[in-house]
Amino acid sequence: MSWYYAEGNQKVGPIEKTEFYELVKSKKINSKTRVWRPGMSNWEELGRVAGRRADKTPQARQAIGSADQAQCSECGQAFAIDDMIRFEDAWVCATCKPVFVQKIKEGLQVSGELNYAGFWIRFGAIIIDILVLSAVNMIFQIPLSIVMASTGNNTAQFVIIQLISTLFQLIIPAVYATWFLGKYGATPGKMACKIKVVRSDGESIGYGRAFGRYFAKGLSWLILGIGFLMAAFDDQRRTLHDRICDTRVVRK
Ligand SMILES: [Zn+2]
Repeated sequence: MSWYYAEGNQKVGPIEKTEFYELVKSKKINSKTRVWRPGMSNWEELGRVAGRRADKTPQARQAIGSADQAQCSECGQAFAIDDMIRFEDAWVCATCKPVFVQKIKEGLQVSGELNYAGFWIRFGAIIIDILVLSAVNMIFQIPLSIVMASTGNNTAQFVIIQLISTLFQLIIPAVYATWFLGKYGATPGKMACKIKVVRSDGESIGYGRAFGRYFAKGLSWLILGIGFLMAAFDDQRRTLHDRICDTRVVRK
């Protein structure tokens, strides 16, 4: 049986059923598209045509026969429209319904709750933080190296200054990460990239978790950066340290 459909003020058709369902699948035709086919008294929205069909008595359905089939948007097989559910523009068969519903739920969760920041934007934020930290470190190291130069061959002084230098290099990044993440949820690098660290429920992480996350991040470095790479393959863009600390990095 041939179909006609309205596109703006144009009437398109006749087209065959298979072509019609292709157009439904590609969303060129949706439930709001006005359609007509021989046997219908008036043009009507497809959603109403399909909706009314489900209200028919079994006898009436029998009379129509199984002529009205739709292609399942999941498995691609044709089924009688009466045996299918419709979600917006897609028809789904009874078998595929659970999978389809699950997909919709997951889709809503991703777009509706947290907008996870991707691997590259986070990589960019890290680069900025490294530059900032290098600059800060320099401020501490320059006076130290001046003192160092003036110590001459005094080994004890040399060792002490080396220790202080190393200590700064350890403490500064820890304080930097803990204070910025604890207070603002973002280091300067993350602020510049408009991303922030939150807990899995979207709440702010606080100083304690920020401090712990700094060390967990060290672990991600220690395993050759693989802990960071994990974000590229995770559906919630979690690095190893995000997994350990139950944190997520999201776009603001
Ligand atoms: Zn199916």
